[in-house]
Amino acid sequence: MATLKFTVLAGDGIGPEVMESALEVLNKACGDAGDTLSYSAHDVGGIAIDNHGTALPESTLEACRQADAILFGSVGGPKWENLPPSQQPERAALLPLRKAFKLFANIRPGLLYPELADASPLKSERIPNGIDIVCIRELTGGIYFGEKKTWQNDDGEMQACDSMSYKVSEIERIAEVAGQTAMARGKKVCSIDKANVLETSVLWRKTVTEYFKKNFPEVQLSYMYVDNAAMQLARDPNQFDVFFTENMFGDILSDEMAVICGSLGMLCSASLGDIKNSLGNKFGLYEPAGGTAPDIAGKGIANPCAQILSGAMMLRYSFGRDDVASKIEKAVRDAVCSGVRTGDIAFGRTPVSTKEMTQAIIERL
Ligand code: NAD
Repeated sequence: MATLKFTVLAGDGIGPEVMESALEVLNKACGDAGDTLSYSAHDVGGIAIDNHGTALPESTLEACRQADAILFGSVGGPKWENLPPSQQPERAALLPLRKAFKLFANIRPGLLYPELADASPLKSERIPNGIDIVCIRELTGGIYFGEKKTWQNDDGEMQACDSMSYKVSEIERIAEVAGQTAMARGKKVCSIDKANVLETSVLWRKTVTEYFKKNFPEVQLSYMYVDNAAMQLARDPNQFDVFFTENMFGDILSDEMAVICGSLGMLCSASLGDIKNSLGNKFGLYEPAGGTAPDIAGKGIANPCAQILSGAMMLRYSFGRDDVASKIEKAVRDAVCSGVRTGDIAFGRTPVSTKEMTQAIIERL
């Protein structure tokens, strides 16, 4: 029996709709296990710009500091897309949150149930057993956080530069997350880089090799250049079990993985750092892979599974409730595989609403 204390940042678009579902499922599953949920909801993203003049108000950040985890929806939408880039909801809310809590590792399971093979753009004979892989992306280093500048040359031509840099300690800590993830799965990991061209990748590969030799001798470590990895993911995704890579390569490959796994409505993620919460577990931010889906927002038809599964990841990593997390994951799978489907994964079936999907999951808990 414990009190699980987290901050709810539903955000914009479908965020509040799918967050309501996730909270219903979490309340039921945790209540059955004897745990109590203690959460407070705060504005983030576009709604926070409207209500507070900034995408990440200090009151929201403070609520996150007081909690053991953040359950995040998604932010942004057409209403705010003409703001200057530095004030855009995603950039002005998510990046500072990642920075504030040093969330350097993004874990995104690429899971496609065999029953949902139709949802993947890959031919079903390439994925007879669905897809079950994990992408780990370094989240706070590399080119997105390196020095940037734009200038005018003497001849009047404009030029711009973004620089990529990595320290050994930054590489080692993401290698640790990859190693631990591999140990909990098939003890097989692929490190993805561009060591034939980039200095950062040469250091990445050397550091990873030494780190795994010393700390994870049982794990089978392989390497792949990022261009080949993009091709191999589309050709035969299950040749990977766990793969990990630096920030920009991970940004691109994780989206490719999302596409081959079917609907964004099914994919969850966890962003973790080294900060421990009051329970001694990892503090983390948990969110669906998709965005605010303005095309379907407000219609009550969004797929709540990604948000619900993000809640399950929160239980596993930040609250040590592996048993309840697995129960939720099984209920989602049972509901989807028994044919209860929202529009994004319906494929000829009569689509159900967000609320009906949520009820079907709760009934199977
Ligand atoms: P999107 O992920 O919102 O939507 C892409 C497509 O996937 C749409 O057709 C949408 O309907 C569908 N989709 C996504 N989630 C779904 C769900 N749960 N159920 C059913 N269908 C779902 O991407 P976009 O259209 O490029 O972006 C829309 C807005 O979201 C933009 O403002 C963007 O900046 C923002 N965004 C935010 C985040 C975040 O908060 N982490 C991530 C990506 C995009």
